[in-house]
Amino acid sequence: MRRLWCQVCGSPAADPNGRIPWILTETAIRWDPGWPGVAITNAPPTCRTCIPGSLAACPQLHKSADVYTASAAAPAGVLGDVHEPTPSGLMLPAGMHEVEVRFDNHRYLPSVLAHSLLVRVFDLQPAI
Ligand SMILES: [Zn+2]
Repeated sequence: MRRLWCQVCGSPAADPNGRIPWILTETAIRWDPGWPGVAITNAPPTCRTCIPGSLAACPQLHKSADVYTASAAAPAGVLGDVHEPTPSGLMLPAGMHEVEVRFDNHRYLPSVLAHSLLVRVFDLQPAI
């Protein structure tokens, strides 16, 4: 994800013009309020070669999927389960699952058990 490699073939996902193709679903994208064309997602990019096969083969993408290109992406936080410390120092689940924790969330970031990286994608434009 950080290197922007295709989630299907593992090759660099960027087009020759530098834009990065991204298949985004309703559940994998949150538009960043106040930032037109900027969103946050935990979905990795998909290269142009792999997009047609992904759209045809993945049942999840049949529900809702749009193909965009982005000019850049940067780590923004993590998605995971929040834990809380006990008096003995042991960390136990706090009952908060699949929580988006941005890197500026100093309350939960030290206690989240992350399973995926969130990236902020910039200048999203519908792919033609
Ligand atoms: Zn690919």
